[in-house]
Amino acid sequence: MNETGSVSTAPLRARAEIDLAALRANVRALRGRAPGAQLMAVVKSDGYGHGAIPCARAAVEAGATWLGTATPEEALALRERAGVPAEVRIMCWLWTPGGPWRQAIEADLDVSVSGMWALAEVREAARLAGRAARIQLKADTGLGRNGCQPGDDWAELVGEALRAEAEGLVRVTGLWSHLACADEPGHPSVDAQVALFREMVAYAEQRGVRPEVRHIANSPATLTMPETHFDLVRTGIALYGISPSPELGAPADFGLRPVMTLSASIALVKHVPGGHGVSYGHHYVTPGATTLGLVPVGYADGIPRHASGTGPVLVGGKWRTVAGRVAMDQFVVDLGGDEPEAGTEAVLFGPGDRGEPTAEDWAKAAGTIAYEIVTRIGTRVPRVYVNVAT
Ligand SMILES: *Cc1c(COP(=O)(O)O)cnc(C)c1O
Repeated sequence: MNETGSVSTAPLRARAEIDLAALRANVRALRGRAPGAQLMAVVKSDGYGHGAIPCARAAVEAGATWLGTATPEEALALRERAGVPAEVRIMCWLWTPGGPWRQAIEADLDVSVSGMWALAEVREAARLAGRAARIQLKADTGLGRNGCQPGDDWAELVGEALRAEAEGLVRVTGLWSHLACADEPGHPSVDAQVALFREMVAYAEQRGVRPEVRHIANSPATLTMPETHFDLVRTGIALYGISPSPELGAPADFGLRPVMTLSASIALVKHVPGGHGVSYGHHYVTPGATTLGLVPVGYADGIPRHASGTGPVLVGGKWRTVAGRVAMDQFVVDLGGDEPEAGTEAVLFGPGDRGEPTAEDWAKAAGTIAYEIVTRIGTRVPRVYVNVAT
């Protein structure tokens, strides 16, 4: 079944197969790593390119009790359309002034507040809505990105949040932060951030905040640092079966399995002589007479142009390499004289157990991280869900 629910047997130009059984198993593996904590399935950016709604549903079926997104729009869409039970909490953390606070309150979202402007806006929206907003105060314990600075800023934010709580306009449901270097075990910033987080939580609790959840762990921290688990772990990339960093280990080392398989139907196979330039700029020239295969996906589909000349593809049981430049809609592989038929499947990446490359292989080929590889797969590539039913 595809995303629109229609069953099609027509061969597709390209497809991203999403294995929801793998996703559910990944959720169970992650819960096993953090048995004392609840699990938030982070499904921002359309579930890291896998489809937020089907992934959210599958994660909840496997025991996630929270869903997390960056933007309020993403969170509102989940509440409206994911069909998850009302007791599943949905949190979003990336707000800008004038954001949809009132809709968020009415949709029972947990909203992150990093500073005084946000607290003022959510308080006013709660007054208009006639009900309390669930807010989670975010501490910057060292990432240097979003979140409230320790010291006077934190004291002021906590104090004002308590005043708003006393007025019945907010309920402070959480205290939370985010790690800078969790994917580098032993990095001194991790212990420093956890220690500061404990202090900032203790300060807020001494002043009278009664959070339901305190949380700081992302995927790498969930997998490798139990001391960061607190009440809730926020896992993104690991849900999708990708290791947060190859230095930490391969997915299988953590009992994880990649969820997305990206493949395309070879559009054309042809013989060319030696010395034939291939694709824009002729950065590849055939070393001798050979066959070329046309793979009908390009950078508009999220195939990184930086993988020109390096990206791996499995065709007919053999790894081939992008020959020359990745174009907007297509790239070419040198098939070395093999003559697969047009329509033969080219697998760009998947779990790896059929011998295909992985998203991590593409990340290496493009000089980036696997997060970016899966997240950038474009909307022109249909997501095809398999193992939808439990
Ligand atoms: C994206 C994100 C996560 C999930 O990170 P992963 O490394 O993918 O597990 C957790 N918390 C916040 C604040 C995020 O933005």
